[in-house]
Amino acid sequence: MTKEDPLKDYHKKRNFDRTPEPFSNQKSSKGKARFVIQKHDARTLHYDFRLEVGGVLKSWAIPKGPSMDPSEKRLAIPTEDHPLDYIDFEGVIPEGSYGAGTVMVWDTGTYRNLNKKDDEIVPMERAIEEGHVDFWLEGEKLKGGYALIRTARKDRKFWLLVKMKDDEADAGRNPLVEQPESVLSGRTLDEIAEDENE
Ligand code: MN
Repeated sequence: MTKEDPLKDYHKKRNFDRTPEPFSNQKSSKGKARFVIQKHDARTLHYDFRLEVGGVLKSWAIPKGPSMDPSEKRLAIPTEDHPLDYIDFEGVIPEGSYGAGTVMVWDTGTYRNLNKKDDEIVPMERAIEEGHVDFWLEGEKLKGGYALIRTARKDRKFWLLVKMKDDEADAGRNPLVEQPESVLSGRTLDEIAEDENE
């Protein structure tokens, strides 16, 4: 029996004759596991948080974006696995397509798995299944420990993204406002949209 294609939902939702989004993994992944946070100006502005796990990008939509303040819990809604190539996707998804709107690479870098049980490292896949994932981000804007924790509300699965209390925590810092532009191109959302319309 073959394992179900993890990108099935990703492919089903999109028409690749229309969208500039990547179809699959063309670039191979070497070295440390990576993450990306994409700012996505769709029907409502949100941030898409993606962690490289098991050859795909495990994904959550975060309406308010990440916080540096450990007392702030940010709602995170799981979305379909994305191909690894999505990690540097920046551009405009055309009107009428799934997720139509401008996408920016707001932050990217590597991460470390911090999940441990009885001194043994718990693989990321299992931590996600169990609904509690601890990791350390080494991004350009975000650094430090974060936890993604699954919770149940009205029979639907919701997660929370929470900054851990460590030396990188800083309630006075708001990179969403202070550093709004792309780490790939330095562009704002408006500039990305304008460039695509030329
Ligand atoms: Mn999105």
